[in-house]
Amino acid sequence: MTQNNHNDNSYDIIVIGAGISGLLSALALSKEGKKVLILEKDSSVGGVCRSYEVDGYRVDTGPHAITRLESGPLRELMDKYFDVVPQFVPFGKYYVRAGNRLEPFPWSLKDWLTFDIIPKKDRLLLMKSLFDMFYMLSMGKDLSTVSIADVLPSEISSTTRRFWDYLSYFMLGTSMKSAPVSRFIDNKCHKQDDKLSSIPYAGKIYNLLISEGATDQKYPKGGIQSITNCILSSFPKNRVEIKTNEQVTGLQTSDTNAIKGVSTEENNYNCDTAVYSGFASDLPNLISGLPEDYTRNLMRIKKVNSLTIWLGLTKQFFSNHGSEMWIDSDPYTWAVPTSNYDPGLAPAGKQLVGFATVLPEKYNPAEARKKALDVIIQTSPEIESHIDMVHYQELIPEKAAWSLDSSFGDVKTPIKNLYTVGTDAEKRSMGITRAAYSVLRCLRIMRSEKVL
Ligand SMILES: Cc1cc2nc3c(=O)[nH]c(=O)nc-3n(C[C@H](O)[C@H](O)[C@H](O)COP(=O)(O)OP(=O)(O)OC[C@H]3O[C@@H](n4cnc5c(N)ncnc54)[C@H](O)[C@@H]3O)c2cc1C
Repeated sequence: MTQNNHNDNSYDIIVIGAGISGLLSALALSKEGKKVLILEKDSSVGGVCRSYEVDGYRVDTGPHAITRLESGPLRELMDKYFDVVPQFVPFGKYYVRAGNRLEPFPWSLKDWLTFDIIPKKDRLLLMKSLFDMFYMLSMGKDLSTVSIADVLPSEISSTTRRFWDYLSYFMLGTSMKSAPVSRFIDNKCHKQDDKLSSIPYAGKIYNLLISEGATDQKYPKGGIQSITNCILSSFPKNRVEIKTNEQVTGLQTSDTNAIKGVSTEENNYNCDTAVYSGFASDLPNLISGLPEDYTRNLMRIKKVNSLTIWLGLTKQFFSNHGSEMWIDSDPYTWAVPTSNYDPGLAPAGKQLVGFATVLPEKYNPAEARKKALDVIIQTSPEIESHIDMVHYQELIPEKAAWSLDSSFGDVKTPIKNLYTVGTDAEKRSMGITRAAYSVLRCLRIMRSEKVL
């Protein structure tokens, strides 16, 4: 894919990687008047924000709920830079499944008190843990160093333990043993700047009392590719060039340690600024002279691995408008019937469901697939005879797990005019929302450094 060729191979800005964070960066920068080249190693753009056809079904690269959509970072970027915006459908409720029991996720303390999947005794014990946390906060304890497992009372049941372990994997990509408590009570305030606000936990604690659920979460009609397509359609004419099948193999710097060019197997390009959206931990292979402590930090980043099984079903098995969290399955499973949001994603009368699981760091793909499919069939045996299509995806939803024993990169790098964006560059929220936060921060830093 190539749009608008520049003859002299010189650009204001080169964006490396055409996932959502690279594309959002390119859109914002081109709308701000810059000539931008995007280099993507794959044959298509979108990274893990794509949809494609399989046997008449339209599957996404993993089932997605787009969070903080009313007033979060993606909304800010859409309002400012998109010419066309996707049509979003409410994501509905999150249901928690344990065995045959299915109940809406308890978003508020009021719901928590009547959430029967968790034994009553545990619910009360967990209220005590919550008050213990308030006490720790009031004593100035840093809750980003305390794990969920640390604050759970020892006497709680295995169901309650699995519930919190599930949430830790779901929200942070890690087990509750290394999931920091702070992530569950961080401030939802979108307009905060680089530093957390002076009352970082106030937003979440307030939410605990009054939350009505995932009201600001939505799904884009046509699949998540619609978001990517809207970005592509919004690029200003003649200011963005995209080259696919071109892997960046090196970044060049000047004597003053500023970025001056980017090379691939085929070409060398000149630029004043580069935005890198691949794995931050790959940077030391692309550029020489990075400070040792910077490189060491990047090497401590742990990525998240996921397996999604897409099933096309000849019958509507999931009738709720929402998704299911299977807290007692092994592996933990998130079931999302995407065709309930947009029937056009499946052939008439059929249902498309994505079952997403988190994979361990090391795994055997064939065994992992079999185990995950067995879980689906054990949970709902009737499904087996109604399977019309099976499609597997092993993908990396987030380039950095948010855990006590791993690290994050940063938008700002030690190289002048080299910035990184993506889910390992910003420690806030998750997935596409996190990627969008990183892009907003990149733009802010560029403005402060007079790149913009
Ligand atoms: C199962 C699953 C469920 C998910 N659920 C949700 C959800 O509910 N909500 C949500 O918001 N998000 C969700 N996500 C995550 C979300 O899709 C990703 O976090 C987001 O799309 C990542 O975007 P990115 O641009 O940071 O990274 P990527 O999409 O990984 O893009 C990086 C791009 O850079 C390219 N690249 C890398 N190195 C080079 C190089 N050297 N040269 C050229 N190109 C290079 C890659 O090929 C890729 O295209 C989910 C993902 C999965 C897999």
